[in-house]
Amino acid sequence: MTQKERMLTASDFMGAEAPSEDDLYKCVHCGLCLNVCPTYLETGLETESPRGRIYLMRAVNEGRVKITEAVNSHWSLCLECRACEVACPSGVPYGHMMELTRTQALRRQPGSFSTRLFRWITFRQLLPHQGRLVLLARLARIYQRSGLKSLVSRSKALRLLPGNVDMLHDNQPTIPAEIFGPSSAVYPALGERKGRVALLSGCIMPLIYTDAMNATVRVLQHNGYDVVVPMGQGCCGALNAHAGVRDEARAMAKRNIDAFLAYEPDAIIVNSAGCGSTMKEYTLLIEEGSPYAEKAERFVALVKDVNEFLVTLPFQEGLGEIKARVTYQDPCHLAHAQRITKAPRELLKTIPGVELVEMEEASVCCGAAGSYSVTQQAFSQRLMKRKTAHLAEAGADVVATANPGCLIQLQTALNNADLPGRVCHVVELLDESYRAGVSSE
Ligand code: SF4
Ligand code: SF4
Repeated sequence: MTQKERMLTASDFMGAEAPSEDDLYKCVHCGLCLNVCPTYLETGLETESPRGRIYLMRAVNEGRVKITEAVNSHWSLCLECRACEVACPSGVPYGHMMELTRTQALRRQPGSFSTRLFRWITFRQLLPHQGRLVLLARLARIYQRSGLKSLVSRSKALRLLPGNVDMLHDNQPTIPAEIFGPSSAVYPALGERKGRVALLSGCIMPLIYTDAMNATVRVLQHNGYDVVVPMGQGCCGALNAHAGVRDEARAMAKRNIDAFLAYEPDAIIVNSAGCGSTMKEYTLLIEEGSPYAEKAERFVALVKDVNEFLVTLPFQEGLGEIKARVTYQDPCHLAHAQRITKAPRELLKTIPGVELVEMEEASVCCGAAGSYSVTQQAFSQRLMKRKTAHLAEAGADVVATANPGCLIQLQTALNNADLPGRVCHVVELLDESYRAGVSSE
């Protein structure tokens, strides 16, 4: 079909925020992406593969297919893990295409009332408003500590609800007493000062993984950096962008661009892989010709994942011994979207006493994938089971990773299978090592 014929056909992809034809027609159907795609590995179905999903995008673009519920279901099952991008010899920017496809799909197939309500609450009423998330976390802490959570778990009442609500409830992460967040404080460099960095606090990490946030600050200080956690920042917008809620994601990006650039840092440090990947792609989110376009470019040039940043320094190696067998799970948005796989492993290897063991399929998605574990519970569980088998085989004392969704999902996998061991962020181990070194001096 020629370009002109396509324009004459009423396509569901018509509209500003749709995958470009340049991108859509880059795929040469070679199939090299199939065996790295978790949904294809599990189902063996072409429709659940990157190639199949791109085929559907093209069919919609050419007006041969409408965005129906059935068509959308194949896109919705995609984890947006972007493993296919790494395998693709034609440079198909699959992640960006899928985000734009979802924006279109949202317009054509807005879903049931409960789906729309879930989306409205999550993407418009909660994620852009950190104060509301903090309030929710405090209420959840009261619920957990009052004994009510245990009571509800023991009653097994939630098993009456559809999906895996009971499992999500029982495995909710413990909310700590202290909540991390932006402040006017400067955490000063220790030893010789090398510069000043600004840390993303984000939405979920500061509520649940306070220890990882504090560890990140200490490790950066230990390596000679003043650390600021800029006021005015908020959620990076990754979950919104992945779900196709791009207008809200764009507003969140602009807020962060202003908040971080005002501090003129040497680098913007991110310890959550999903956030880092979106922040490195803010230029794709900002409208062409917007006054934010130039600022977005400056912002993007400063963004560094904490693992990536540390290994490029004259890095302070781990000092104290941690006797542990450690395995590393690659977060998809670090390994595939940011192409960072060596840095976290190199950091772990510097810790005296750590034996790093590679797990089978360490770079295959664990099934967390942002809100996927809630919206696609059954498939998320399938991937978690697959990962559990590999975790059991690895037999590690510690599972290290670098993203909050993975931290939650992997700990749930260990708990459900009664496997020993703990899950933590790479920088937490590094921080433990530094502290062990200092206390033994
Ligand atoms: S993003 Fe992941 S799940 Fe989606 S098509 Fe690519 S490899 Fe498969
Ligand atoms: S590897 Fe790339 S070009 Fe080949 S089928 Fe997959 S998306 Fe298309």
